[in-house]
Amino acid sequence: MTVSIDGQRLWSSLMSMAEIGPTANGGSCRLALTGEDAAGRRLLLDWCEALGCTLRVDRVGNLFIRRAGRRDDLAPVATGSHLDTQPKGGRFDGILGVLAGLEVFRALEDQGLVTERPLELVVWTNEEGSRFAPAMVASGTYAGVFSVDDTLSRRDADGVTLGEALEACGYAGELPVGEPRLDGFFELHIEQGPVLEDAGESIGVVTGVQGMRWFDVTLEGQSAHAGPTPMRLRHDALAAAAHLIDRLQAHALADAGGDTKVTFGCLEIDSPSRNVIPGEVRLTVDLRHVVEAELDALQALFERELAAAGETFGVAVSQQRIWASPVVAFAPECIEAVEAGARAQGVPYRRMMSGAGHDAVYVSRVAPTSMIFVPCRDGISHNEAEYASPEHCALGAQVLCDALLGRANRPA
Ligand SMILES: [Zn+2]
Repeated sequence: MTVSIDGQRLWSSLMSMAEIGPTANGGSCRLALTGEDAAGRRLLLDWCEALGCTLRVDRVGNLFIRRAGRRDDLAPVATGSHLDTQPKGGRFDGILGVLAGLEVFRALEDQGLVTERPLELVVWTNEEGSRFAPAMVASGTYAGVFSVDDTLSRRDADGVTLGEALEACGYAGELPVGEPRLDGFFELHIEQGPVLEDAGESIGVVTGVQGMRWFDVTLEGQSAHAGPTPMRLRHDALAAAAHLIDRLQAHALADAGGDTKVTFGCLEIDSPSRNVIPGEVRLTVDLRHVVEAELDALQALFERELAAAGETFGVAVSQQRIWASPVVAFAPECIEAVEAGARAQGVPYRRMMSGAGHDAVYVSRVAPTSMIFVPCRDGISHNEAEYASPEHCALGAQVLCDALLGRANRPA
């Protein structure tokens, strides 16, 4: 079964969706389960109802939009992503994955084709995590990582629970969370990094997701006068932090493959003053790697370097691991399906790991999964300036279409 998607139609759906919750600089603001998010969902559902699809909504508001197959007793092959955005988000993050699924349904409809297995277009609730923490909470609930009750009781900054927000916007469904079970899941997404664009490649065949670990670090020295205190008698907490950062940066930069990533995103100096030696510093550490054992080694190195920095600078150090996400490997047969699709298009592509979290990460725990990346301009996302070209969006949707049909039509 060969089906050609219509890139023009996909682009116009993307631009229509962007008219809901527009921001001043051309982006989108549809925070999860707000009126804007509900309006975005409504638009999608109107489009899908016109195709004769059926809708089921689960208890955490995930939408399952089904296009019937010949064998509706078989588990569906699914695609999808999210329609919610950051407060100043773009037009593509998540939305491309949903509307590319819609475009596949439309293309099948145009050609009067029915797949063997049913197809399911999924919209996951609250992927971004900017209204309700954590991110990807509803796909995580679907995969059994979070309980339904915990998810429904998550609160936004105004104290509104996710359950209340679902009721208010009309998407509190009845379908038990975890249903339907999926035969497979493919998610198309913008890369959100600069690798494909930098290499002049058009498709990323995503083989898994980096492991990540977060730490809070405290360094406690002694604040003292910058003038009378000799350098060798100081207990400078910031100097110790700087040493730690420098050592880990050098280690990560020495990894020629670029698989080691270290980031120190927040740095706080207690009572900072230009002529006072920093007495206490708090620091966040984000460690990432594509191999779990290497991530263990990276954490061990961080712990050694932290202890050494404390000793060298006469500073007491402590750290706490506050979050960890293991390395995820996607299903080989789904990765191969995506790769075959990329090869068929005759465009440059690469196999790569995702650096960011996605709904597919959780879904991969309960169904064979892979992802497709397309380049985004300057690697920018979570930003109103986020942009993916019509050509790349169409290419990604075509690869998605091929992967979905291949899986949906394989012998039972
Ligand atoms: Zn996303």
